[in-house]
Amino acid sequence: MLVDSFGRVATDLRVSLTDRCNLRCTYCMPPEGLDWLPKPELLTDDEVVRLVRIAVTELGIREVRLTGGEPLLRRGLPGIVSRITALEPRPEVSITTNGIGLARTAQALRDAGLDRVNVSLDTLDAATFKRLAHRDRLADVLDGLAAAARDGLTPVKVNAVLMRGINDHEAPDLLAYCLEKGYELRFIEQMPLDAQHGWTREGMVTADEILELLSARFTLTPDDPRERGSAPAERFLVDGGPARVGVIASVTRPFCADCDRVRLTADGQVRNCLFAREESDLRKLLRSGEPDERIAEAWRSAVRIKRAGHGIDDPSFLQPARPMSAIGG
Ligand code: SAM
Repeated sequence: MLVDSFGRVATDLRVSLTDRCNLRCTYCMPPEGLDWLPKPELLTDDEVVRLVRIAVTELGIREVRLTGGEPLLRRGLPGIVSRITALEPRPEVSITTNGIGLARTAQALRDAGLDRVNVSLDTLDAATFKRLAHRDRLADVLDGLAAAARDGLTPVKVNAVLMRGINDHEAPDLLAYCLEKGYELRFIEQMPLDAQHGWTREGMVTADEILELLSARFTLTPDDPRERGSAPAERFLVDGGPARVGVIASVTRPFCADCDRVRLTADGQVRNCLFAREESDLRKLLRSGEPDERIAEAWRSAVRIKRAGHGIDDPSFLQPARPMSAIGG
């Protein structure tokens, strides 16, 4: 198992399949994009599947989330999904995506065994989408969401990041839309993980503010806290339920004590936290012919030294060198 020195057990693996993205969300990366990882540095499909196999069969991983960058840009995605879902014990497999291209690929991904999707949607207004993501693709995202629901990639979860003065006024509209469509909406507090280092605490729309914005139109009742487990989202029943809305308050209400996640970057580095400053190089071990046991041991060591918390509130906090798109969100 992957256990850290505080007794937390990692069972949820986030795998970044690429650092590339076809959007340029301002809280994530600059309009001109970033210097992408050179192809030889990326894990091949076989290498990804081997590492996930080790994680699932040797290290107790039960859930695998494929992310990026934008995972739908990875050509081998359906093949990777079908090979991971064929593992024993079979992990739950989902993707986090911006939804562009999902209308075309949802059925193939479902056929490959994908269980469900998280789709990012920050606005319902095409002009705001363009301002926020620097691309005119709102219709593609909405089509992708509809296809995911149609093809059974459910429950469809929607992630939204609010930015002050840009889309924060849309919080109730986003919730109304998701309720109407049967999607489960979760608002994520903006975290200091943008490549431009433009995050400020004052600029971040906090969980308290999000709940206040929603309360103008909906009655929110906290869900039974026992239901939450290690889930990052604090959930609320909307107008008495059964529909719920979640708030992932990584900054103002951190949930590090219950964290069960570990991350693998597209270039084969284990990160024991989104905000870790250290990484462990599994690609080097893979490519130097080390056996599974040696790789599993390196992975255990990487998790063992996980810090108690992300430390955003520490005066000594330093933003990680890699942005969210390169770590895998
Ligand atoms: N491209 C995919 C997508 O758009 O969902 C997957 C990668 S993206 C990095 C994963 C999630 O991280 C998205 O929901 C995105 O909104 C969120 N995200 C990116 N940068 C963030 C930040 N600085 N703070 C909070 N969430 C962020």
